[in-house]
Amino acid sequence: MNYPTETLNRTITVFSQNYLPISRINIRRAIILLVTGKAEALTSLTQEYWEVRSVNLILEVPTHIRLKDKSKERVWKVPPVNRREVLKRDKYQCQYCGTGDKLTLDHVIPKSKGGKHTWDNVVTACAKCNCFKGDRTPVQAGMVLKKLPTPPLHPSLVFAEQFWRHQNELGVEH
Ligand SMILES: [Zn+2]
Repeated sequence: MNYPTETLNRTITVFSQNYLPISRINIRRAIILLVTGKAEALTSLTQEYWEVRSVNLILEVPTHIRLKDKSKERVWKVPPVNRREVLKRDKYQCQYCGTGDKLTLDHVIPKSKGGKHTWDNVVTACAKCNCFKGDRTPVQAGMVLKKLPTPPLHPSLVFAEQFWRHQNELGVEH
């Protein structure tokens, strides 16, 4: 099929069987899912369609589709702690003083005191705070965390949150 380029750049929002918005895919993939019966139009949210024309066919591709198959929902587990993601989560700020200089990772409860290398015990700390804190807990060092560290959210939940926020900004009724 020969699609006009601007239509091909369109994306379709995919919902799980349980109506959780899970991802955005390109229109080609959406057409394949629809044609093979793996997804259906989700018209309760919007009646919008992208029109895709070929020589002898006009396809109306709904802007929101819902997967029919439960197994398509992604299996996901919390990734191991890594520096890049911890810095990102903490917005590249020392969690004690707020600076963005010379960032390191700090174990809130030091490893020597039984602290684990887990998402809720590892925070971004600048070299100065980390050095001052040393082998102490924040309480012992008289330091206060800006916020409690948490593990990353399931990507679908992050996507869903952004999706609904965007819908609200657009003033879409639901
Ligand atoms: Zn600091």
